[in-house]
Amino acid sequence: MTFDDLGLSPKLLEAISAAGYTEPTPIQAGAIPHAIQGKDVLGIAQTGTGKTASFTLPLIEKLSRGRAKARMPRSLIITPTRELAAQVAENFETYSAGQKLTMALLIGGVAFGPQEEILNRGADVLIATPGRLLDHFGRGKLLLTGVQLLVVDEADRMLDMGFIPDLEKIFSLTPPRRQTLFFSATMPKEIQSLVDRFLKAPERVEVARPATTSANIEQFLVRIDQSIPKAKRTALRVAMDRENVRNGIIFCNRKRDVDIVARSLQKHGLSAAPIHGDLDQSERTATLANFKSGDLKFLVASDVAARGLDIPDVSHVFNFDVPHHADDYVHRIGRTGRAGRQGESVTIITPADDKALAAVTKLTKKDIPDLDLPALASALDEISDRKPRRGSKSKPTAKPRDDAPAKPREESKEKPRSKDRKRSRRHDNDRDQDRLPTIGFGDHVPDFMK
Ligand code: AMP
Repeated sequence: MTFDDLGLSPKLLEAISAAGYTEPTPIQAGAIPHAIQGKDVLGIAQTGTGKTASFTLPLIEKLSRGRAKARMPRSLIITPTRELAAQVAENFETYSAGQKLTMALLIGGVAFGPQEEILNRGADVLIATPGRLLDHFGRGKLLLTGVQLLVVDEADRMLDMGFIPDLEKIFSLTPPRRQTLFFSATMPKEIQSLVDRFLKAPERVEVARPATTSANIEQFLVRIDQSIPKAKRTALRVAMDRENVRNGIIFCNRKRDVDIVARSLQKHGLSAAPIHGDLDQSERTATLANFKSGDLKFLVASDVAARGLDIPDVSHVFNFDVPHHADDYVHRIGRTGRAGRQGESVTIITPADDKALAAVTKLTKKDIPDLDLPALASALDEISDRKPRRGSKSKPTAKPRDDAPAKPREESKEKPRSKDRKRSRRHDNDRDQDRLPTIGFGDHVPDFMK
């Protein structure tokens, strides 16, 4: 099948060929013809399958046949994170080259003013995160009754992030006669229920099982017998200090560890920077741009911030922690080995991670071999041999220091209390943080709210 067979206009075919694509991917071949015919589509596909173009192309096709009205967008794309929204916007710009279509990117963490100006002038498409979109709606700056085409991207991630009530509201604010293109990598029951309620006889297009890890990615484990952070950071650096490591993304389970690991790598002279939901949007954007351009070699990230990022040339993914959810492992290591390239993933394992690792191997149906790291043993010996600080009377184990043997992480003080854990999940979700009233920041107040 070629792009010519999909029912796209000559202008779009030109833009596709300028982007260098010769053949539609399976999700594009499956979804585009239905979308062009005006049908609802349920696309079950992960990032990396070309799903963005599978909704952006038909959307542009549809928009090219009408004009924008002030404050009444004709189409709307909802994504869970700001980075993903920005990525979709980039795609939209690439494929709509040469057409006079206007777009408004409505994401949190940046000022309302410029977004409102674009809304006032009239945008053909809004690309938005749920919180910021509803904020604009709440301020009376836009009406969704003119939306003819609604796209929902990465619905399962919105579920993880607590966005389902927002999504339900957005569905109810758009006219029932709209067309809906709905994408999700997995179909938990909450997502199926949304589909049943808000889509009309959708065409289901499914590509690649969500639990499969790409054959292009070589996966390894680095086992250490201490759960202390310093040992993990040492193991990480030894694993990073190999010839084939050109660049990489290092995933941590917690935002605090993202900062700590990034600082530690910087201290050891590595080109590394953190990215997570608590950082300023401008900082996140600059960090990503530096990583994409190659100026920054290592990105230390939380799952949410790095979810769905399309950076084609990442040689390595490092898991500083085994993710809490096994499917996050698949998403994480999928950041490498893209576009047919070879990739490698390295996961640091401590005795406390046995259960999480078992969940990963059960899901991926693959045993992960150990990475041969001859330098590791002596590097670990070095940190455990260090003499106690001068003046410290306590035995090394009495008062755990950064480099002292410690209780497994689960028992440490760092473990959030169950209430805190709930809050941090909510907080971790990149929800637009300038939305008021905001749900439970707890004692943390981002700088821009002070
Ligand atoms: P996505 O799944 O939308 O994030 O896309 C993953 C990557 O595939 C992006 O870098 C796209 O630019 C690229 N891509 C999308 N469609 C095609 C295609 N038909 N042929 C080759 N690459 C594509």
